[in-house]
Amino acid sequence: MLDVELAASRERQERHMTEPFDVGVVGAGYVGLTTGACLAHLGHRVTCVDNDPQLVAELGECRMPFYEPGLEELVARGMRLGRLRFSTDLAPVVQEAGVVFIAVGTPQGNGGSADLSGVGAVARGIGRALSEGESRERPLLVVNKSTVPVGSGDYVSMLLREGAEEGGNDAVAYRVASNPEFLREGSAIYDSLFPDRIVVGADSREALDTMRALYEPVLEQGFPTEFDPRPKVAVPFVTTDPASAELIKYAANAFLATKISFVNEVANLCELVGADIKEVSAGMGLDERIGSRFLGAGIGWGGSCFPKDVAALRAIAREYDYEPALLDATVAVNERQRKRVLTKLQQELHTLKGKRVALLGLAFKPNTDDLRGAPSLEIGRSLIALGARVVGYDPVAGKAARELVPEMRVVFDPYEALKEAHAAVVTTEWDELRGLDLGLTASLMSEPSVIVDGRNALNPASVRAAGLRYRGFGRG
Ligand code: NAD
Repeated sequence: MLDVELAASRERQERHMTEPFDVGVVGAGYVGLTTGACLAHLGHRVTCVDNDPQLVAELGECRMPFYEPGLEELVARGMRLGRLRFSTDLAPVVQEAGVVFIAVGTPQGNGGSADLSGVGAVARGIGRALSEGESRERPLLVVNKSTVPVGSGDYVSMLLREGAEEGGNDAVAYRVASNPEFLREGSAIYDSLFPDRIVVGADSREALDTMRALYEPVLEQGFPTEFDPRPKVAVPFVTTDPASAELIKYAANAFLATKISFVNEVANLCELVGADIKEVSAGMGLDERIGSRFLGAGIGWGGSCFPKDVAALRAIAREYDYEPALLDATVAVNERQRKRVLTKLQQELHTLKGKRVALLGLAFKPNTDDLRGAPSLEIGRSLIALGARVVGYDPVAGKAARELVPEMRVVFDPYEALKEAHAAVVTTEWDELRGLDLGLTASLMSEPSVIVDGRNALNPASVRAAGLRYRGFGRG
């Protein structure tokens, strides 16, 4: 036996793991690549398939397409142990695999609903590959990990069947399950290995059993980890019907977005009555029924998921002639928060024409380089339209931001962005921005030297003590 095999089998024994699965993961983006690397870490043999040949070539050389802490090391380890590969060729992966995940993007489409063209193309491709392959001992389990509207399980089944018909043999065996993903960019690996729950929706007992076996090391927390003590001892396995699984994902994201919009509404009231939202949310969050997370006031939510998922849930409601009043308000409050940044700047600078404004942090949140739905970009574009000269800084997302907003000057040092700026907006609360050298900042900026703290990340008293003007959100 090779050393690698010996090590793998020893690890498996240590983990009391059931036999490893051959897994295909289609879509090697934030979700697919993380899922593939984590499943390989658990001992499975994984091939990630993507239709972007350059991405696959780069992954084959262990070059990551995006910034995600710890991912490169995990991918490198999986590749070294021979458990993680990359390919552009779907058919052989489908034919070898016991389980195939669909993890392609589902961007916002017409009328806010999710665009399922990627999911559909992959499902068809899987059906075709199945029909062209040898007959199988066990049905293939096709698992939808992309965030998709209710009923997508049936849609995927239909397209699998159509793909198989196109391939000339519709007598193929497969099952479909829904396994929504809850990872957060920036802590994607941690969230995958130590999730709050794993949700699986399926109509067949066999599909649920297969998913339980696949995730057993996570459910029982039997894989090796450097965390001491382990953050979790066991993980709940939520099994349900496909429609409920699909709705759990949308409802969870919509709830979190609503929580942020709620606290922003309260923050705006704080400004009117002279209260401090930091104090208010701390006092609220200590109530276990409420919890302290997602109670940060500021410029609101963005990113690759919340905006499109809330839009998709509103579109689902309207499809059924249901007016989603609370979700509509969640979005309206969020849109207003972005405008409040401009209002605060106008109150301080009067006109924005010819004023230099630094945007500190461009990624939609810290620890990621993802700019999809980033509030910074929208704010930057609005400032430019109002005549301001905008200089953006981000520790990892700068280059990509430059391409998205070419009129924005992007620099790679926060103090370069602050030089001669009349105002600076903290748009992403990177740790290094929380620890900004305020004395240096004050010496670099031009009057009136305003800091609009879009994430309430700074200490107002310290900012003011340095000789800067401070405007937070909901802070009196
Ligand atoms: P992504 O854009 O980062 O990655 C998608 C990948 O799929 C890309 O690499 C693309 O090249 C590939 N792809 C598209 N069509 C393909 C096809 N026909 N065949 C093969 N590959 C194809 O997207 P993501 O952020 O990983 O999101 C994937 C899904 O997971 C979405 O539905 C999203 O809503 C959901 N989700 C995302 C997150 C997140 O934080 N990013 C969290 C939970 C759920």
